[in-house]
Amino acid sequence: PSRFESITMAPPDPILGVSEAFKADTNELKLNLGVGAYRTEELQPYVLNVVKRLEALASFSSLLLISFIHFLNRMASFQAENLMLERGDNKEYLPIEGLAAFNKATAELLFGAGHPVIKEQKYVATIQGLSGTGSLRLAAALIERYFAGAKVLISAPTWGNHKNIFNDAKVPWSEYRYYDPKTIGLDFEGMIADIKEAPEGSFILLHGCAHNPTGIDPTPEQWVKIADVIQEKNHIPFFDVAYQGFASGSLDEDASSVRLFAERGMEFFVAQSYSKNLGLYAERIGAINVVCSSADAATRVKSQLKRIARPMYSNPPVHGARIVANVVGDATMFGEWKAEMEMMAGRIKTVRQKLGKDWSFILKQIGMFSFTGLNKAQSDNMTNKWHVYMTKDGRISLAGLSMAKCEYLADAIIDSYH
Ligand code: PMP
Repeated sequence: PSRFESITMAPPDPILGVSEAFKADTNELKLNLGVGAYRTEELQPYVLNVVKRLEALASFSSLLLISFIHFLNRMASFQAENLMLERGDNKEYLPIEGLAAFNKATAELLFGAGHPVIKEQKYVATIQGLSGTGSLRLAAALIERYFAGAKVLISAPTWGNHKNIFNDAKVPWSEYRYYDPKTIGLDFEGMIADIKEAPEGSFILLHGCAHNPTGIDPTPEQWVKIADVIQEKNHIPFFDVAYQGFASGSLDEDASSVRLFAERGMEFFVAQSYSKNLGLYAERIGAINVVCSSADAATRVKSQLKRIARPMYSNPPVHGARIVANVVGDATMFGEWKAEMEMMAGRIKTVRQKLGKDWSFILKQIGMFSFTGLNKAQSDNMTNKWHVYMTKDGRISLAGLSMAKCEYLADAIIDSYH
């Protein structure tokens, strides 16, 4: 007998397990709307051109698709910016806190380059983490270590991994009301009441934009009220920003919730991810930012974040961090990135509009996901009968849907609602 007899089989992950089931399905009609990953209209994974160019992998044919002048420009910069290989970037370890140029760029993207938090530099502790997930996990470890007994409030529902992250970090959490099934919209009164009722000094986890899984965001006026109650109760906001620029197509617009809190001089956490907006999923690039009210506090917080990271994974990956730093640091490439982000956000919006003709609530949602209101049995019908793979909470990823497949999906949803 094995020494591992007592180790029982773990259940499949509710999100990533969907992709495994999808792979095993041989039906031609199958559609994967489970995982949140951007697909082209041909339902293929997409590597951003600006990323390919940086990696000096841009194909000749894709360059030919653009106008001739643009083409010449691109060839010139293609050579000049054959950065990552030609500059002889090495593979030595990064410092524990990650690539300095990345950390500077990521904080500037979040708060805006002119923001006092940035200008006075030392008021924010930023360290590179292992994408959004790893950055959330670092913050959770900091909370566990220095805010013993404090609770994190998460939205009901939320991205499934939030619960795992806080459980593994041994940070207690509870839920605040967010989604109202009656309106398939935001339960704003419930949300405010629950935040008010939480013990003073709780952490309030907020999705910066494009709430996952519902696609329902507070309005700008509602954000103001949320900030008010959080301040009243002396809570600590904790933003998860996984979709900056990917929701509206604008980096600034999608950061407006975070910037509102920064304007008020509050202390708070922000986890960032470059999985979706720059398509760096597997590179694991992100950051944790802790906005502090003094330079001194920021220095101490940063030192402790490093201390948490060191025995966990020592130091973060360099490749994707260089991509972000180079794209943001070059005006031309920054412009190209923004254009590609708009293109991706635009494709999702187009699909949303087509599908939303039948269901108006879909039009009110934003970002990669749509909450259909389908329950578990109905979601099972979507998969078993229609080969549409989705999470059992009724969430579909519109980023995995093409215009050509909209009608098929609508038929599947109508059939499953009954
Ligand atoms: N937070 C939310 C709300 C997400 O949707 C995701 C990605 N699905 C993440 C964090 C983290 O993703 P990653 O670790 O790839 O950055």
